[in-house]
Amino acid sequence: MEKKLAEFRARRRRAEKSKMSEADLQSRQQSADVHDEQPQKTDDTTAHHNQEDVTGVEDRPPNMSGSPAVVMRLVASAYKVAEKAGSIVRKVLHSGELGVVEKTGANDLQTLADRLAQKSICASLSRHFPNITIIGEEDLPAEKVEEDLIEKGQEEEILQKSCPEEFQDLKEEELVVWVDPLDGTKEYTEGLLDNVTVLIGIAYGGRAIAGVINQPFYNYQLGPGATLGRTLWAVLGLGAFGFQLQELPGDRRIVTTTRSHSNKVVIECIHAMEPHKVIRVGGAGNKIIHLIEGRASAYVFASAGCKKWDTCAPEAILHAVGGKLTDMYGNAYCYHADVKHMNSAGVLATLRNHEYYVSRVPPSVLQALKSD
Ligand code: AMP
Ligand code: MG
Ligand code: MG
Repeated sequence: MEKKLAEFRARRRRAEKSKMSEADLQSRQQSADVHDEQPQKTDDTTAHHNQEDVTGVEDRPPNMSGSPAVVMRLVASAYKVAEKAGSIVRKVLHSGELGVVEKTGANDLQTLADRLAQKSICASLSRHFPNITIIGEEDLPAEKVEEDLIEKGQEEEILQKSCPEEFQDLKEEELVVWVDPLDGTKEYTEGLLDNVTVLIGIAYGGRAIAGVINQPFYNYQLGPGATLGRTLWAVLGLGAFGFQLQELPGDRRIVTTTRSHSNKVVIECIHAMEPHKVIRVGGAGNKIIHLIEGRASAYVFASAGCKKWDTCAPEAILHAVGGKLTDMYGNAYCYHADVKHMNSAGVLATLRNHEYYVSRVPPSVLQALKSD
């Protein structure tokens, strides 16, 4: 026991050190960010970024049995796996050979990066966690995965954190992982690189409980020499990490929506929100990042098209900071292994004031969408 406690104290000291470097990084990130609006740093940012304030359990050893909970090991692996997928996405772009294939049409693409990243993510996670259900976006032939696509690492800082009590005893068999290896493929092929993300969402009991988002080209506008990429992650009840939570003033309505999958109903619904501004960008992951970094107040997409792998990881991160993602009726989506993949009743996500946006959806828009 003495030895365990000594180890624990040493790990805490290392954790304190790495917390400081995260804070450093965040302040550098903040100064690199350019916002045309003036987002406000929220008072509760620290609460979401400092586990002590959220759970009050930092003084307890992470796990008395000595081994971190399955869910924390899974998130720690997903973090490294998402980083590797992000580097694959960069490499394929730099090779210049994107290998573009149309899936259902010109606005539904798959590239070599989507294929390789999914192979890497799914094979790496299932090697570590053979009993977890993993659902990836891309339909790929079952074939042997080259060893250099396998990521074996786990993010040490995540392993050091306490698992929220309600998830402590979860078993592999109870978890479902939703993988979008490259969200924003259309934008990737058009060079809108900051729209691109890698999404790994973790569900239990039909709920999105944890998520990892890697943004492979974060900082690419800074030019050569800039360190590219970042990883955001969250576990419900623990907090969200890897970004600085910011929110717009309550009375600013800035709606973010699709740039390549719009239609009459999508536009009608946005008008009904009476937005001060509309930001059309690619990717579900990217739009949730807009919400949590104070660049938009609502993500409004009154159309089918988004799937469970698009929303699982973003929803977990948004919910971990008090936001909400639902369909256009205001109903939650379910992430059981056997659910329909399509989010048929659209996507409505906000950091705050969700009820306002739900109340503004016109009946004609709801009629045009099927409830899930
Ligand atoms: P977007 O906001 O258009 O970038 O869409 C967010 C996510 O949903 C991306 O992964 C898109 O590929 C997917 N998506 C949305 N609408 C459609 C659609 N009509 N067909 C195929 N994928 C779609
Ligand atoms: Mg996607
Ligand atoms: Mg995708």
